[in-house]
Amino acid sequence: MIAILRIGHRPDRDKRITTHVCLVARAFGASRILVDLADRELENTFNSVNDRFGEGASIETGVKWRRVIGEWKGIIAHLTMYGMELDEAVAAIKEKDIDADVLVIVGAEKVPGEVYKAADFNISVGNQPHSEVAALAMFLDRYFDGNALKDLKGKMKIIPSNEGKVVVEE
Ligand code: SAM
Repeated sequence: MIAILRIGHRPDRDKRITTHVCLVARAFGASRILVDLADRELENTFNSVNDRFGEGASIETGVKWRRVIGEWKGIIAHLTMYGMELDEAVAAIKEKDIDADVLVIVGAEKVPGEVYKAADFNISVGNQPHSEVAALAMFLDRYFDGNALKDLKGKMKIIPSNEGKVVVEE
């Protein structure tokens, strides 16, 4: 089980990017999403995607992130451009415990030093600054050996097509 912990979410500034973090987590195989600041609008938007396109991850906002980290029983991975190389890190996580629940932490602006210390693995997706959305998608895809994309069953199903939009509604 993979859970995503989004810390530093500022509803006024990070609205779209946190939504994208959550949607990527859902579409790329995570089971739980935890966001530090309470944001009912984000929950509603996310749950409406689950409702229409199939039940993916669950979402909870307003979590106490220090408590989540402190009480986590499995492996803690933190995505940061300063961390160890992605492929090496994924291999190390699996070697440590292939069945462990993994908590993946992604930041918004500045991530406190205690997160780096609490993490079993600080992981970089390349050593350039970019985006938590890209970092998360790549981490999940590598973690799931390139098979992260989920085919969820919902009221609406998009059929891949080269022309037009093909959507089947139940
Ligand atoms: N300077 C900030 C910091 O303290 O890490 C960077 C903030 S960055 C816009 C937001 C988040 O994107 C980071 O907390 C990290 O989770 C993720 N991120 C950005 N670049 C990354 C990279 N190269 N590898 C892994 N994660 C990255």
